[in-house]
Amino acid sequence: NADLAKNRAKLNGRGSVLFFNQQLHEDLLKKHRLVDRLERALDEGEFRLHYQPQVSAISGRIENLEALLRWEPAIGPAVSPAEFIPVAERSDLIHRIGDWVMEEACRQRAHWRDAGLPIERIDINFSGRQINRLDVFQRFESCLDRYRLGPRHIGIELTENVLIEADGRILDGLRSLYDQGFRIAIDDFGTGYSSLSYLKYFPVTALKIDRSFVRDAPLQPKDRAIMEASVFIGHRLGLEVVAEGVENIEQLALIREIDCDLVQGFYFFRPMPADAIERLIVGVVPAQSGLSS
Ligand code: C2E
Ligand code: MG
Ligand code: MG
Ligand code: MG
Repeated sequence: NADLAKNRAKLNGRGSVLFFNQQLHEDLLKKHRLVDRLERALDEGEFRLHYQPQVSAISGRIENLEALLRWEPAIGPAVSPAEFIPVAERSDLIHRIGDWVMEEACRQRAHWRDAGLPIERIDINFSGRQINRLDVFQRFESCLDRYRLGPRHIGIELTENVLIEADGRILDGLRSLYDQGFRIAIDDFGTGYSSLSYLKYFPVTALKIDRSFVRDAPLQPKDRAIMEASVFIGHRLGLEVVAEGVENIEQLALIREIDCDLVQGFYFFRPMPADAIERLIVGVVPAQSGLSS
């Protein structure tokens, strides 16, 4: 499409300016339309959380779940959070969406606790603008209080860039969560403006190696080297190391070889709705469910 636009611009000469302006105009319109649609989606209850298990690299046991936002509009195809979260980030809507995710994850976790399902933590993603809100940690903690949840039940994920841009107040907030025993993971590790010094200053408990490294590591020595170094540094700093986006047995074999702790990816489980998680957990815990064959 961009190529087409360039070609047309070349052919049209003066007309190109007009063409590009129109493109810009359409992009802007599209952005506004998406923000409006997102706002309506919140009001109409069109968001859901899906949950993707993280499993032990050694035993395959489910250790915890990552909450991932899903939007299936009443009309039209599903829209990926990779597309709509950045748009929501450019307006205050991200706070409403963030609150909704927090509330829903807590509600679900409390429900599973009350139902006696042996599910560990649910980790939720926080984006940059969301964490910049003055009262974000108060809101987080008051949400947990309302559902009588603690550090065992809910954890958080932040990208490197979010951490690097965090000011003193945010770091104090994170430090306080860390001191209370909350799990704090660095998401997409290795893809941000990584400066290793932030590993020294920021209160975190886990590294999630980005799936761009995992993808090619079985065949690409450089990707493998970066993964090995990430595991090494993570472990030396006392952090848990998670490999993201594991899709095949070759990747899993490598991950086991280099001593990664946890694995998340389609090879084991896709993100799925809460009821599918329940069936899964009941199925994999035969001793407690009495369904053992
Ligand atoms: P993320 O936090 O790094 O989440 C992992 C993404 O990788 C998810 O995409 C997940 O579906 C996908 N994934 C997991 N295993 C595999 C695999 O084996 N292969 C491949 N190709 N992909 C895999 P998803 O759900 O589309 O989310 C994309 C991003 O959107 C997330 O990346 C996160 O940055 C953001 N996001 C999702 N939910 C939320 C949310 O509730 N709040 C915020 N602030 N951001 C969210
Ligand atoms: Mg994440
Ligand atoms: Mg990630
Ligand atoms: Mg990611």
